[in-house]
Amino acid sequence: MRRKMVAGNWKMNGTASSLTELGNLAYSCKSAKAEVLICPPATLLYRAANVCTDSKVEVGAQDCHSATYGAHTGDLSAEMLHDAGATAVILGHSERRADHGETDQVVRAKAKTAITAGLTAIICVGETLADREAGKTLAVVGAQLASSLPDDTRGTTVVVAYEPVWAIGTGKVPTVEQIAEVHNDLRASLVKRFGGETANAIRLLYGGSVKASNAKEIFAVAQVDGALVGGASLKAADFAPIVAAL
Ligand code: PGA
Repeated sequence: MRRKMVAGNWKMNGTASSLTELGNLAYSCKSAKAEVLICPPATLLYRAANVCTDSKVEVGAQDCHSATYGAHTGDLSAEMLHDAGATAVILGHSERRADHGETDQVVRAKAKTAITAGLTAIICVGETLADREAGKTLAVVGAQLASSLPDDTRGTTVVVAYEPVWAIGTGKVPTVEQIAEVHNDLRASLVKRFGGETANAIRLLYGGSVKASNAKEIFAVAQVDGALVGGASLKAADFAPIVAAL
């Protein structure tokens, strides 16, 4: 059985005052059955991990470099993030793919380093609106999946997040049929590549405008093992009901 997961991505939001909100969230999630992860900006990681000690909430990072150390001004290695208290890292988010030109190959290299450092790699894939309108959703998402996951992927080291680019921060959500179609296809591709045992242990999250009001319906879709949440992860009052919906 795959353990359900709800991950929150604070993106470039949050200062020290946001730690109070995180404390509220940790309190609200004290009887959560799902794995709960919050990915604050790297500046807050260490303090966020301390706030969440002895709680059900884990903290993660939003990106890492593919190298283990060295002359990369402004970058952070997976080992540093792990050292700061992260247990996971989001990789290949569409905003990083768009803002920083991250390719599948870059994402795969980052995933390898992250896993070696002991982090769970949450690898994001998703089509643009143009891809969907051209009927290329499964081809685009399938290609991203094939090239972004390392060959030695294990069921517990990787989580895949399906995030249609057009659904992120827009309030637009695919139909449950559309989510099911992509998640079924992702699962089938994973089984083909890694075999049933590994593939069936990899969690598939849905992300893009998830909120308390639509979480239950999305979580009811077969092959949806949880969510990656952006905007609704910033406030405990918005996020806790999503966790409770699983
Ligand atoms: P959103 O973001 O929930 O604000 O749409 C999701 C994400 O980018 O992971």
